[in-house]
Amino acid sequence: MSSITPLHEHRQDPKFDTRWYYNPVQLAEAGFFPIPLCWPNNAGACGCPKKHQDPKEVGKAPLLPGGYQHLRPTPQMVARWRSRWPRANWGLLLEPSGLLVIDGDGPEGIAEAQERGLPPTLTVARGERRHWYYRRPEDAPAARRTKAGESRQLDILAAGYVVGPGSLHRSGERYMVVEQLPIAPAPAWAVELLRVKPTPAAAGPLPILPPPGYLNLSPRLQAVLRYGPDGDPGRYPSRSEALYAVIVAAVASGHSDAEILAALLSQAWVRDMRRHPERWIPPQIAKARASTTVRRPARSVKVVCIG
Ligand SMILES: [Zn+2]
Repeated sequence: MSSITPLHEHRQDPKFDTRWYYNPVQLAEAGFFPIPLCWPNNAGACGCPKKHQDPKEVGKAPLLPGGYQHLRPTPQMVARWRSRWPRANWGLLLEPSGLLVIDGDGPEGIAEAQERGLPPTLTVARGERRHWYYRRPEDAPAARRTKAGESRQLDILAAGYVVGPGSLHRSGERYMVVEQLPIAPAPAWAVELLRVKPTPAAAGPLPILPPPGYLNLSPRLQAVLRYGPDGDPGRYPSRSEALYAVIVAAVASGHSDAEILAALLSQAWVRDMRRHPERWIPPQIAKARASTTVRRPARSVKVVCIG
């Protein structure tokens, strides 16, 4: 982390110093709860011992085994982790420190957040992205809402962790503190977004088997499930038709409505088709079920991971 240049030019105060934000031990001493994450190498690929292949995990996936979210890392624990993984990125657990981070993912999300109102607070930037750090009111749920707001570029994060200051993104951009201010109470609109009932996809794994993203489909339709019409170029003139083909095949394989819905909601291209996919997809499944013969139960055949 020696290559960090603090972004303090925007402040007049010569004493302004953000460097401690980039030291996870000092973050822990200040009341944050840091956990070590994967780090990217110079090529933007995984540089950690876990050899992550999914770009979404590079620089972001926890290095600790499952259950890390229940830890309350002390400065001593953080110091040990840092000597073990000196190049690690650092996430900050949100729930134990009562944080609510508004994540503006792209210019429209940032514009919407600014329009709705952002009390001045600790702010971290990474390229186009902004993380505004707020305090979560005690009566607000410790939850996560992603792709929220009209822009669908707002993430309201009060559970799990956020990639913290000083961390290096696989793009080469670093998460930098751009406003060093006390952490303010969260604005009411963000708390309201947090209270909105989540879609199943945003709520995390559903209590069903097989889990989201797993459907017994032919390899061709697995590709369609994963990539939409691009999974079988030229065959489907629209995303709606690609979606319906997947639904018909999943119904024929004996999957339940909940399994099909969960698998579809786990795919970004489906979530991006229209708002409230959890509302308009079930009628599509019902339509397919009314006109499709179930071949056999899905449990009796090999279930293939497409996630
Ligand atoms: Zn990794």
